[in-house]
Amino acid sequence: MVNRQLRSTTIKRLIRKTPGGKVVTIYKPKKTGKHICGRCGQVLNMPYDQRKVRKLSKSEKIPSRPYPMLCSKCAEEVERYKAMADVTFKFKFDANFKRDLTIEKFLQKGWFKKISASK
Ligand SMILES: [Zn+2]
Repeated sequence: MVNRQLRSTTIKRLIRKTPGGKVVTIYKPKKTGKHICGRCGQVLNMPYDQRKVRKLSKSEKIPSRPYPMLCSKCAEEVERYKAMADVTFKFKFDANFKRDLTIEKFLQKGWFKKISASK
């Protein structure tokens, strides 16, 4: 039986013939997929190949701004949405505020209840 760590399904198996005529099995880690934005599905400019990512520092792997799982455009929209909610509920200013659940998905649980109670 093969070594336990090589029986994993996250490892790619390649069967190759050596110059000497032997047939050997080569084990390689699988290439992982690209990161996409959680809201719009755009491909993020982040390193994604786990074989290379392992060698990078944390700041090279993930953006240091808030909402690293979103693209910069969507992250900005989330901040704008939060500001609009603040204006509407905290300062009782009449702004055209419409709820957008695709944005609220990335905010804390019970965020809307908390902010609408501060009226
Ligand atoms: Zn996006």
